Amino acid sequence: MAIDPDRHGGPVNRRYHKRMALRFFNTYSREIEEFEPRDPAARPIKIYTCGPTVYSRAHIGNFRAYIFEDLLQRHLELRGYKVHRVMNITDVDDKTIRGAREAKVPLAKFTAQFKEAFFEDIDTLRIKRADEFPSATNQRYIDRMIQMIGALISRRLAYQAEDKSVYFRINKFPGYGKLAHFDLTQLQSTGRVKHDEYDKEHIGDFALWKAWDEEDGNVKWDSPWGPGRPGWHIECSAMATALLGDQIDIHSGGVDNIFPHHEAEIAQSEGVTGKKFVRYWLHCAHLLVDGQKMAKSLGNFYTVPDILAKGYTGREIRYALMRVHYRAPLNFTWGGMKEARESLGRIDEWLARLRETAAKKIDEGKTAGEPGQQFEEALDDDLNISAALGFLFETIRETNRAMDENKLDAASASAWPDWWKRINTVLDLEAEAEAPVPAEVAKLANERENARREKNWKRSDELRDRISALGWEVRDMKDGQKLTPRGAP
Ligand code: AMP
Ligand code: ZN
Repeated sequence: MAIDPDRHGGPVNRRYHKRMALRFFNTYSREIEEFEPRDPAARPIKIYTCGPTVYSRAHIGNFRAYIFEDLLQRHLELRGYKVHRVMNITDVDDKTIRGAREAKVPLAKFTAQFKEAFFEDIDTLRIKRADEFPSATNQRYIDRMIQMIGALISRRLAYQAEDKSVYFRINKFPGYGKLAHFDLTQLQSTGRVKHDEYDKEHIGDFALWKAWDEEDGNVKWDSPWGPGRPGWHIECSAMATALLGDQIDIHSGGVDNIFPHHEAEIAQSEGVTGKKFVRYWLHCAHLLVDGQKMAKSLGNFYTVPDILAKGYTGREIRYALMRVHYRAPLNFTWGGMKEARESLGRIDEWLARLRETAAKKIDEGKTAGEPGQQFEEALDDDLNISAALGFLFETIRETNRAMDENKLDAASASAWPDWWKRINTVLDLEAEAEAPVPAEVAKLANERENARREKNWKRSDELRDRISALGWEVRDMKDGQKLTPRGAP
């Protein structure tokens, strides 16, 4: 079958087709905006993404955010942009300090284990690593935080209160509340001043520098305002501007980051530089469990190892977290994991079948259809992954039908795997290459085959056990034995 070019955006269709620009929903304007990099000549695109607070192992809700950011970066790259991305690691805050105190280990030792776990999990989920992962406790960034706080004080945008902590004076920053579309007067009338926050001028003023207290133990840095530690928000402003400059193209995180975290980042960064900090603010909706946000504090979370322990693979988790548009809430269910496995199975079978068909080289004089641009164009539309995957599965249905009827010519059959290769630079969902069978296992499997031919079932079972002891499972199929590493689905 020649693929119908009208449906697949082949050459006929494309002649009349003007590509729409890449566009994103900007939280700042609450509108879909065409993506125009800060300076088209100044490559690469600068992206800052808020990373994990390393006080425990991240849960898959966090990874929904990181997978959305991975999709964002990969799609920009597919569209020819070069990307420079920074993801911070928050390794000092109330929670990390409390965790280290309870575990009775130094802060750096306490956070190191969760940093390591984080990198292990992003590799399992095939999340492309950012170019840089700065840690807040690096002296280079602490110095930058102190310098920024000093600049804010000199501009009267910050003050040291009686409790010795330094706060940002939100009333002095005219744009405060714009990102969250938040009315400051409401904050004033309904906010309750907490017992330990009497020293602040305004309930909404947030800490830039937290004065040391006993609970902090030996976690402290010197500063012009006395010993203490930075607030969470200034950490991100300092690391973002230190590594990417005063102005960046895209800043992202989960919706819970919008207020106060990102609002504060704008106030601090622009308060220091006087320049617009970020052009596009992108935020993903939450991963839910039974309608509630998956969160550490609610105890309704799963980690990547929790799901691996149920027999699922990293790519199945990746698919399950990726398949819904990033601005729509996504409910985590085991049924969803099963569906992910089925969907990936359909892709695997389709690719295997196409490759077989292509190898047969039966052309029957048919012309090859050309895979179009619908997948990329769906992603151009504010990363509409649901539409992009919808197109993929429609393609799978159509080409499978053509193969059922023996109507797919070899050129089309090899054009689709090439197309897959292109879209898979964004999806990264290809099955793992099968592990090579070690020589010793192959030898035992050979002996087992002979034993079975001789109907020596006892010997066959013994050999199965020996193969199993080497970490491999043998299954008897119609066309012979199949060897798989144990634990593989
Ligand atoms: P945290 O370690 O709490 O600072 O969170 C790290 C990132 O994960 C932030 O971008 C959060 O917005 C995001 N996040 C936290 N919980 C969820 C969730 N249930 N669904 C999606 N993103 C989340
Ligand atoms: Zn941040």
